[in-house]
Amino acid sequence: MDRDGTLIIDKNYLSRVEEMEYYPDTLKALQVFQQLGYDLFVVTNQSGVGRGYFSLEAVYVIHKQLQNDLRENKLSPFKDFAICPHSPDDGCECRKPSGQMITDLMEKYHINPDQSFMVGDKLIDGEAGRNAGIQGVLVRHATSPDFPHYKTLMDFANSLKK
Ligand SMILES: [Zn+2]
Repeated sequence: MDRDGTLIIDKNYLSRVEEMEYYPDTLKALQVFQQLGYDLFVVTNQSGVGRGYFSLEAVYVIHKQLQNDLRENKLSPFKDFAICPHSPDDGCECRKPSGQMITDLMEKYHINPDQSFMVGDKLIDGEAGRNAGIQGVLVRHATSPDFPHYKTLMDFANSLKK
């Protein structure tokens, strides 16, 4: 799952945990995914680190809060977080739309690509999924003829129940 704009409201280089804000359906949708047996991972570009806007430590603080919130809501925590801390100018190999962060996770956790999704609110999220050989899914703003689209995360979660 993408983080900003998908799990939490995209605040343009979010670095302060106090400003983290979920969409109303995020935790409920995550519950559905877990009830269906999915393991959850976060795959996020955090170029604010590479641009010098905030530290990687600030990113970890936010991810720790995510884990705490999931536990408090009786959910399992995310299995892992993949972070690209680079700026676009760094020319790294991890930044989405590269599929590398996803393929690394799939290798590490022995994940079946045929039963996995990359969900995000931007075209690059769908593309990152495709580049990693899994199904990309777009939610909220982004639409593209190349990927299925759902208005909310909950709509996507419900679609998996069938
Ligand atoms: Zn990177």
